[in-house]
Amino acid sequence: KRKQNKHEIPKSNVQFADIGGQERAKKELKEALDFLVYKDKIAQYGIRPIKGVLLTGPPGTGKTLMAKAAANYTNSAFVAASGSQFVEMYVGVGAQRVRELFKEAKTMAEKNNQDSAIIFIDEIDVIGGKRDGQQQREYDQTLNQLLTEMDGVATSDKPRVLVMAATNRKDMLDAALLRPGRFDRHIIVDLPDKPAREQILTIHTANKPLGSDVTLEKVAQETFGFSGAQLESVANEAAIYAMRDAGEKIEARHFAYAVDKVMLGEKVDREASE
Ligand code: ATP
Repeated sequence: KRKQNKHEIPKSNVQFADIGGQERAKKELKEALDFLVYKDKIAQYGIRPIKGVLLTGPPGTGKTLMAKAAANYTNSAFVAASGSQFVEMYVGVGAQRVRELFKEAKTMAEKNNQDSAIIFIDEIDVIGGKRDGQQQREYDQTLNQLLTEMDGVATSDKPRVLVMAATNRKDMLDAALLRPGRFDRHIIVDLPDKPAREQILTIHTANKPLGSDVTLEKVAQETFGFSGAQLESVANEAAIYAMRDAGEKIEARHFAYAVDKVMLGEKVDREASE
């Protein structure tokens, strides 16, 4: 199931604090981003700039949030696209879109007076999948254009461009993408453990009236295997049930319904796609 048209996410205010759990991923990402922030130091030591950061992990774990938070953390312009948007019937169109994306990022940074720009490409595996002969020729041009653009990025560039990409399937990626100087920072964004699930639930219930019988720790306990996106959905569904009940507060039983609904919904989805 591919998400379509997740294009040009408008300026958002996502901060790292809005992302529950993922402590290790956040720390690694911030370390990589410091290369963008302290670029004079980096140049002084003659360190090669980081050009690409690859986020890998299951769907809905916060990869897009990470990219948005990265843009805010570094005060960078932010443009986003999904790999599936580069797939076109006509040869060359994908490559043209890659060129436009880089141009757009630079123009946006210049307009906003920012020193850097982050380009986020979700579903990078769609254009950066392993090459197998004839079949992928059109994607090849797109991938080659991306590699060319990344190779062209220099420390002294103003604005400096950093490409962040996300995939659920790192094993599918062409080795050319993973070479040093390309996506050479890999960060795993995995499913949340119990404390992380509680944090995510806390974030997504911050603006909701919780009844005194609700213990988010218990909800976290009962949502083993849920992604951040599913937990957000649990919080939202629980609120919908409470509203239907016309109660003042969201109660524990509303959460119980919501957990069942999200769990079942996923199962139905899976069966439908099998
Ligand atoms: P995909 O691989 O499907 O593109 P993703 O990993 O990019 O997914 P996001 O788009 O970042 O996932 O997450 C979707 C939504 O799920 C977010 O907008 C947010 O509401 C919620 N979410 C996911 N992970 C977290 C998290 N760690 N903390 C808080 N909210 C989260």
